[in-house]
Amino acid sequence: MDTDESLTLWTALVNTRYLHDGHEVDDLKTPEGLLDWIKQYFPDIVSSHPVDNPIFIGQMLQPLRDLREICLLIATALTHHTPLRDALKRWNQWLEDLNLKAHVIWNEGQFHEVIHGVDPSQHILWRISHSLAETLQRVPSERIRQCEDEQCIRYFVDTSRGGHRRWCNMATCGNRQKVARYRAKNKGSKTRSGAVPKR
Ligand SMILES: [Zn+2]
Repeated sequence: MDTDESLTLWTALVNTRYLHDGHEVDDLKTPEGLLDWIKQYFPDIVSSHPVDNPIFIGQMLQPLRDLREICLLIATALTHHTPLRDALKRWNQWLEDLNLKAHVIWNEGQFHEVIHGVDPSQHILWRISHSLAETLQRVPSERIRQCEDEQCIRYFVDTSRGGHRRWCNMATCGNRQKVARYRAKNKGSKTRSGAVPKR
């Protein structure tokens, strides 16, 4: 598993719920939405397993929503500095239902631990859960944050060197904040010519 996925998969799941024009949108609300999300984040599994069927969707929908809830509980507890106990209990109960196989290999001088779900739905669920576990082991908890834009409810893991990232996405939320700040700063000074937006 690459480093990037191990830190971002669970936030991608949490962020399937977001605000659009002030209304909450849920990408996992329908089986079609779920399939689109799976295809986007697990192309390797999708290419080798037929996921476009009701059995697969039936296996995925509820445990995926439950896992999203658990990820959100953990992220909320960390950002609000409240106890993690209940969230961890739920996470462990959820993990008990996973059906996985593991094996280890030594290949070209490198050690690999390979985990497979007994079916693809289990593999996908494990990968997301594992990404949360990896994040919590490797990243200081203060780097798990909710976007500062008040029109946004997304979470992100700040992997920047300085650790001062404030928005889920610089191009959308970050830019909106910049424009708002610029407008506020220049209110009442419109008559001045040559005003240049400052960062
Ligand atoms: Zn945002």
